[in-house]
Amino acid sequence: MIPFNKPFMTGTELSYIERAHTNMQLSGDGPFTRQCHAWLEHRIGCQKALLTHSCTAALEMAAMLLDLQPGDEVIMPSFTFVSTANAFVLRGALPVFVDIRPDTLNIDERLIEAAITPRTRAICVVHYAGVGCAMDVIMDIADRHGLMVVEDAAQAIMSTFKGRPLGSFGHLAALSFHETKNVISGEGGALLINDPRLVERAEIIREKGTNRSRFFRGQVDKYTWVDIGSSYLPSEILAAFLFAQLERAEEITAKRKALWDRYQNWFHACAFPGVTTPTIPTQCGHNAHMYQVLLGSLDARTRFIDTMRQQGVQTVFHYLPLHSSPAGLRYGRAHGSLGVTESVSERLVRMPFWLGLEDKLADVFRASEQAIGDLLMRVRARPEDLMAVD
Ligand SMILES: *Cc1c(COP(=O)(O)O)cnc(C)c1O
Repeated sequence: MIPFNKPFMTGTELSYIERAHTNMQLSGDGPFTRQCHAWLEHRIGCQKALLTHSCTAALEMAAMLLDLQPGDEVIMPSFTFVSTANAFVLRGALPVFVDIRPDTLNIDERLIEAAITPRTRAICVVHYAGVGCAMDVIMDIADRHGLMVVEDAAQAIMSTFKGRPLGSFGHLAALSFHETKNVISGEGGALLINDPRLVERAEIIREKGTNRSRFFRGQVDKYTWVDIGSSYLPSEILAAFLFAQLERAEEITAKRKALWDRYQNWFHACAFPGVTTPTIPTQCGHNAHMYQVLLGSLDARTRFIDTMRQQGVQTVFHYLPLHSSPAGLRYGRAHGSLGVTESVSERLVRMPFWLGLEDKLADVFRASEQAIGDLLMRVRARPEDLMAVD
């Protein structure tokens, strides 16, 4: 079976972990964590980077930093991972879900302004597949309405919008180093802080609500409980693994992009009717986080995934819309129609994507041709199967 995902190891992870072991400092914020922070601050150009256990943890910290009160509203897409919404719901805030663009599958910036109410405090954008949202338009809306912006950049490390790294636009941004992402540490994440007013409080929240970071810098002579917070810092063992990956992030991205281009060229050359390939706007430098296509209907997708599995290739669907999920109905609110979200959610299929797949790509293409061929045969009986929405 060709799996959907396979973690990529650079080969230096274990020797760095051994070095952390030799350093005899295994708790957080040691030398490897500092190297990761410096790398992220330099590469992304954020004011401050702080490693966390996960992107989910970084989003929770972001929600604390925004000082959200019960009933405050956060505008976000419904086509995203649960953590985007959960982090704010944990603070008592209300996710307001707006629809996505049919091309990038990112929040439709043209719908944001109409969703703003007197209770709106923030916009949380998600850079789906590592392709940037329209950050110029979104930051302008936020400025004019006095809103904070959080980038869920879980999938977007090394991507750019108008030449500037994603994660450097919003007041806050969150990265993920989960095994399924481009740069990994098994579980892991980072909070990126671009608004200098939030840096000191972010350190406090991450250190259980204490001013321990200032204490270690010699800025206070004892540390104490000063605010709300929790334990969000990962151990040096994890940071050592992560640094071995960050060092090679450039190369990982280049190789992934070569793989992505092979998929895109192949699908374009085949020009299968009823199959929509990804669109990358010219302002977006993407990181080849995933390769996904849209099929004509839910039924077509189900059959495609089944036929692929029968031929030994694992393909997967992605998000179920949050606005119509049990918790989304209880804790959130949909703004207007979410027709694109609902349609995309039923029709999107993600192809296997990992470094090393290059050698097996011919098998994936052969299986895809077969699976789509089967769909085209069936369509003579049921033409609606192939009705692409856009
Ligand atoms: C992966 C992902 C997350 C969660 O990341 P974790 O590090 O597993 O917490 C959140 N948002 C998006 C958009 C993701 O893709």
